[in-house]
Amino acid sequence: MSAPFPAPIDSSTRYCAVFGHPIKHSASPAMQNAGIAALGLNWRYLACEVHPDHLREAIAGAKRMGFVGVNLTVPHKLLAIEMVDALDTSARTWGAVNTIQFEADAPGNVATRGFNTDADAITRSLQEDLSITLRGARVLLLGAGGAGRTAALKLAAHGVGELHLVNRTESKAAAVAAEIQQRHPGLKVIVGYPKTEVDLVLNATSLGLRLEDRLPFDDKKFSLRQARAAYDMIYRPAETPFLKAAKAASCLTANGLGMLLYQGSKALEIWSGQTAPIAVMRAALEKNVYGH
Ligand code: NAP
Repeated sequence: MSAPFPAPIDSSTRYCAVFGHPIKHSASPAMQNAGIAALGLNWRYLACEVHPDHLREAIAGAKRMGFVGVNLTVPHKLLAIEMVDALDTSARTWGAVNTIQFEADAPGNVATRGFNTDADAITRSLQEDLSITLRGARVLLLGAGGAGRTAALKLAAHGVGELHLVNRTESKAAAVAAEIQQRHPGLKVIVGYPKTEVDLVLNATSLGLRLEDRLPFDDKKFSLRQARAAYDMIYRPAETPFLKAAKAASCLTANGLGMLLYQGSKALEIWSGQTAPIAVMRAALEKNVYGH
């Protein structure tokens, strides 16, 4: 697919950006600028290194410069909750902001509204990339950091049948389990490995970012032969040791590229009010991350 040609930058060009720390390896500009060009918008999407101490100033600066919106990545998603004028239901539900929209709420005044597009992106990618039915599924979730917590809460809300949570720091998995139990008292949430088969094992730890990393689970307590499908939120490298081992154990597998794509496409839809060109954005992302 040939990349759409962007409108030339002029005085009416508007900007969006992702703020993060670090931001150097972000694939979002490639994906978003391809989507923006395909929609024929005179916008550009930038990547900005923003230290958490300066996040409030950076958001205010973007607002004053007429930005359309910004995305937030590590470590800003929780901090931003306190820095926007209003929270969309998505940000309130998942307790984190990854997308801000600047919207004129009165002549001369611009309000900031925080959204969360990460949670829906996780379940959309699981369903589309693994063709898995999440309702009633038995799931083992590895990791209880920011992404793991969001995934756990979203899977619970989506009606999974049984959720096993495992994290290096067990108290964090227990805290997420308690939060889920409070929201969904009927759901079976267990801190620890399943003894029988699961429909899905999901890696939400950062183990696998380096090829020499060990597997993100204890192979004396769990075997990938117990799982039908395996998903790794990591997308670079394309095949982590976890996904390689899962393939060898005959699991269906997918990496986290779809999750990145769907959180970004939803952000573009919020800002533009148009349907995001998913195929164009996916192709740009794959080219940026994998070089083809
Ligand atoms: P985070 O908040 O820093 O959480 C990191 C998680 O990894 C925690 O559960 C942590 O356990 C665990 N961990 C780190 N080092 C470990 C080690 N040596 N041994 C065992 N466990 C270890 O990060 P995050 O934002 O949740 O991100 C988690 C992963 O998801 C990352 O790989 C990130 O790249 C990926 N991610 C992908 C997308 C996407 O769009 N595809 C989006 C967000 C995140 P402790 O709690 O014990 O420290």
